[in-house]
Amino acid sequence: MSALSSLSILGATGSIGTSALKIVRMHPDRFDVNCLTGATNVELLAEQIQEFKPAMAAVLDGDHADKLAKLLRGGYCPEIFCGEEGFISAAQWADTDMVLLAMVGSAGLKPALAAIEAGKKIALANKETLVMAGDLVMAAAKARGVTILPVDSEHSAIFQCLQGNRARDLEKIFLTASGGPFRNRPADTFKDITLADALNHPTWSMGAKITIDSATLMNKGLEVVEAVHLFDVSHDRIDVLVHPQSIVHSMVGFRDGAVMAQMGVPDMMEAISYAFSLPDRLDLGTGFPDFAAIGSLNFEAPDTKKFPSLEFAFEACRKRGTLPAVMNAANEVAVAAFLKEEIKFTDIFKLISKVMGEHTCIDNPDLSGIIEADYLAREKTASLVCRISKIN
Ligand code: NAD
Ligand code: MG
Repeated sequence: MSALSSLSILGATGSIGTSALKIVRMHPDRFDVNCLTGATNVELLAEQIQEFKPAMAAVLDGDHADKLAKLLRGGYCPEIFCGEEGFISAAQWADTDMVLLAMVGSAGLKPALAAIEAGKKIALANKETLVMAGDLVMAAAKARGVTILPVDSEHSAIFQCLQGNRARDLEKIFLTASGGPFRNRPADTFKDITLADALNHPTWSMGAKITIDSATLMNKGLEVVEAVHLFDVSHDRIDVLVHPQSIVHSMVGFRDGAVMAQMGVPDMMEAISYAFSLPDRLDLGTGFPDFAAIGSLNFEAPDTKKFPSLEFAFEACRKRGTLPAVMNAANEVAVAAFLKEEIKFTDIFKLISKVMGEHTCIDNPDLSGIIEADYLAREKTASLVCRISKIN
């Protein structure tokens, strides 16, 4: 019988966070919850607190902490924290064995570093952390002896394919991508893409930001950078393959020509639970792909003219330094503006290209160098958004 694992779940109210809590609900003998964090959805967080009774909870700011405290009046009430300090406390909570980083965007970076400093095992969904500061984060984890387990389905697949093999025999990573909702849409109609079109992902159900990233293929670009850091491979060993059925979650090729693929239904539960419980595999009830009904699995090369995000990411990998953080910051601001319908879909590509193109890359930045580059890139992108939204 395996020991009970105590979890801090950062980003508990999101798509990954709620899937993680489903796993906890199914396996109360394996997991308990110490800390739950969210940003502004205090109603859902309050329900989760009543059900899982964590010792602490954290939200975005004091206003939301007050709202949460009001909602909890008369019921179970944990210690309530707010802001970055609150997220860091959750990441370092004394009784916690594993931290699931499932908040969206750059907000994950400091809690990730805090969890490493406290020697906590990390289940990492928040890919933006590694895109911004992969060199620093991986070096800190190595120095502290901290394991970072991938939750992103592709990286979990790669990790699973590597089990029982030697990393030095790895020659190629085939990173699969669904291709998003616009795979077959002619590029000359991209200017007419609406927010609703872009939020309509063909195979995965996810949070808004990553759904737009999937539509632009920037999600795959971010995942290329993530894979470089997690598996310590050069970007030129990574091939992105469009695979519309999303059944093959990724593949690895070894020096003898053997290729191993990991498959499953497009549901994040499997990747999350593997990070939580490996080497044990838990019953999840997700079932298997209906291969006979699916019939065939297709693969094609991505169209990088239509989706330049992949070019941006490979460029960021070639130059490294502060450029990946700048790419990530420009993307976050551009996607937030698209979600508010301030800019067009095609503006996302234009903004990232411009902000990356004008950035003077700093090699081997420390944390403050990365944070400054991130800040300046956000400012620049935001001012470009203002200009564009006045024209639109
Ligand atoms: P989501 O938008 O559904 O949830 C995000 C969570 O982060 C919420 O709990 C929200 O309250 C919290 N949050 C938002 N802004 C915050 C801030 N500034 N500070 C602290 N917390 C904040 O997102 P998601 O789809 O669950 O994705 C979460 C992360 O996991 C992202 O980095 C994403 O790229 C990654 N990921 C998601 C999936 C997926 O299937 N959803 C798959 C792979 C990787
Ligand atoms: Mg993924």
